[in-house]
Amino acid sequence: MDIQLDKAPCGYFSISVAGLIQSVNQTLLDMLRYERDELLGQHIHSTMSVTNKMFFQTYFYPYIQLYGRVDEMYFSFRTSSHEDVPVLLNGVRQERDGVTFIDCVVLMMRKRIEHEKDILQTKTKLEALYQATHEANKKLELLHEEYELKQQELLGINHRLETMASTDALTGLKNRRFFQDSLLAQLALFQETQQPFSLLIIDIDHFKKINDTYGHPVGDLVLTNLARLLQTMSREKDIAARYGGEEFVIILSGANQDKAIVAAERYCTTTASMDWGEHSITVSIGAATVTPGDTDQTLIHKADTALYASKTGGRNRITHADHLVSSK
Ligand code: GH3
Ligand code: MG
Ligand code: MG
Repeated sequence: MDIQLDKAPCGYFSISVAGLIQSVNQTLLDMLRYERDELLGQHIHSTMSVTNKMFFQTYFYPYIQLYGRVDEMYFSFRTSSHEDVPVLLNGVRQERDGVTFIDCVVLMMRKRIEHEKDILQTKTKLEALYQATHEANKKLELLHEEYELKQQELLGINHRLETMASTDALTGLKNRRFFQDSLLAQLALFQETQQPFSLLIIDIDHFKKINDTYGHPVGDLVLTNLARLLQTMSREKDIAARYGGEEFVIILSGANQDKAIVAAERYCTTTASMDWGEHSITVSIGAATVTPGDTDQTLIHKADTALYASKTGGRNRITHADHLVSSK
């Protein structure tokens, strides 16, 4: 064997059809850690594990018999000290002087395999990273959902607080604070659009007697039932509120003096004709309709004066501030 082939940068061996090693270069001997005379004349199987022997027998031989060559077969030899050497094997069947040989070239694969291992490790790491990212995203989504829920809860709580702050606890009607804000808003609207509105102050007649005769809880019940009646009778755009004690107020949106009187009559007669049980309940009402120059205080004062007139005029009646004449 000439020196170029002997020291070529790849292993080389030639075997007979029976598999006996005819020649082997130094590169392959170094790769497998054999001396030349240890291998020459030996069966090529002596450089293989049992599994690889079977593989060689089952694939390499039939293939080379059939096609005359084998290209880039992944294979593994065994060193004299039983270490596996992964290789890429090329073989060709050819005749020399009437004798058939199988000549093979052997390329070490260690670097490539290490490279593949690196790629595999990187892939595994990447997969773990993707998994972690996926889990983190899921957590983030859950946190976001939780945040949205809390936000909704907070909105609900705020809404309830707002309602509580504007509601009279006993009757469930709007309270005095809400009424005062609404009155200011109505006045502002009137100044801007001249759309009239009226105010009714409704006071239960001789309410103290109800408390004194039937007890405070019955008094409370009367207040609650009257509140319900006022709420039911008022239009959606009107505002019915408890002004304090046994006094209620109604802002009649868009109502001029005539409409205010009609509405007040309706509240007065309906209350008087309702079945209140053992006792009867009547109310006195003072009405006032907004005029230019009115403030919340002047308007309330006018309605209050009218209410006083209803009381002194005999109760269970209504008075409009502009007349200060009892209608009953
Ligand atoms: P008038 O016809 O002149 O209005 O007589 P009145 O008895 O209705 O008026 P007065 O101002 O003398 O008495 C009002 C009573 O209302 C006195 C008070 O104890 C009672 N009252 C005020 N708030 C409540 C309440 O929340 N519940 C009950 N049960 N009674 C109340
Ligand atoms: Mg009163
Ligand atoms: Mg009263």
